[in-house]
Amino acid sequence: MTVAQYILKRSKRARYMRLAVQAGGVVVLTVPHYIDVETIEKFLAKHTEWISKASEKMRHFKSLPVSGRRDYLKHKESAREFILERVAYWNRLYHFQHGRITIKNTKGLWGSCSHKGNLNFSYALLFLPRELADYVIVHELCHLKEHNHLHAFWTLVARALPNYRELRRELRRYIPTR
Ligand SMILES: [Zn+2]
Repeated sequence: MTVAQYILKRSKRARYMRLAVQAGGVVVLTVPHYIDVETIEKFLAKHTEWISKASEKMRHFKSLPVSGRRDYLKHKESAREFILERVAYWNRLYHFQHGRITIKNTKGLWGSCSHKGNLNFSYALLFLPRELADYVIVHELCHLKEHNHLHAFWTLVARALPNYRELRRELRRYIPTR
């Protein structure tokens, strides 16, 4: 069995061959620039099982078009504007007291709520489908009242978003930025 399709990246800095599977199931092989095709094919043949498992797993995931510090700095302010507007919008329903709202490059986390009532959000919310960004915002808002994921918490969430279960499931398919 051979790997049908993959992206080959030749790198001057790479010291060894490295396989990665991206969201969507795309296989990327990075190799030192001097490696010949035969060695590459042998390497791939040896890892076919790993590749097919990993790409099957990643096929269902989606990635966002942003990552890294530069994207964060570029989009931070528009993300802040968007998030402040959505927090205000949803809080018209809840009327919760909240502290500072901080936009971060939270790496692997969409949002969080501190004990003091400060809210943190990833700038990448700007790139999620609108209803999923709203889900994250409502979720963190509700933590101002319920600092857990017990029944009362989800009842609060459902007040704004009755389909929160579906949204939560959909959100898991998105890989937060790195
Ligand atoms: Zn939570």
